[in-house]
Amino acid sequence: MRARNEEHDDGVDQAVSMVQERLTEEKWQAILHNDADYDGKFWYAVKTTSIFCRPSCKSKPPKKENVRIYPTAEQALTGGFRPCKRCKPTGEKLPDEEWIGHVTDYIVSHYKEHLTLELLADTSHSSPYHLQRTFKRISGITPTEYIQDLRIQHAKTLLVRSDRKIAEIGSQVGMTNTPYFVTLFKQKVGCTPASYRRQHKRGD
Ligand SMILES: [Zn+2]
Repeated sequence: MRARNEEHDDGVDQAVSMVQERLTEEKWQAILHNDADYDGKFWYAVKTTSIFCRPSCKSKPPKKENVRIYPTAEQALTGGFRPCKRCKPTGEKLPDEEWIGHVTDYIVSHYKEHLTLELLADTSHSSPYHLQRTFKRISGITPTEYIQDLRIQHAKTLLVRSDRKIAEIGSQVGMTNTPYFVTLFKQKVGCTPASYRRQHKRGD
């Protein structure tokens, strides 16, 4: 088999390659197909037009050799590129980001209650599957993981700042099933709620 014809940056570009990322085939396909799943994961700039875009931008596909990849919009700006007027890579939030922002706000104010993926999807007239997928794409974790992390974080505070019983604290952060609360706590924190309290509570 012949060696793959790898692209090499020329000498000038090596100086900026610290912040630039390589244009992998995966990223190139994302650009060609305006794949919104990649929005927020990288930005691409076009050397000939000095403009940079989100992967989902519907503008004419650039020539591959003119594409520069950046991990953030700020770095593309620093690299001397202007934001595209069409996809507004630095501008307003995309509808999906806004939606997930609302779901996140909802979770933050209702984490003490019983929350399910179905219920969260219902609040925004979406399907659990679509919510799960979009949430994960935008925040990197699933809604369930987000809820669990938030509950455990509040439980840690209550364990240290109050004398309430473990079961009570569990219920207070939305986990009425105490054995489950203890198991999850152990899984996330590395010790039981009781031993966490012993380690962190002062003045006993
Ligand atoms: Zn654009």
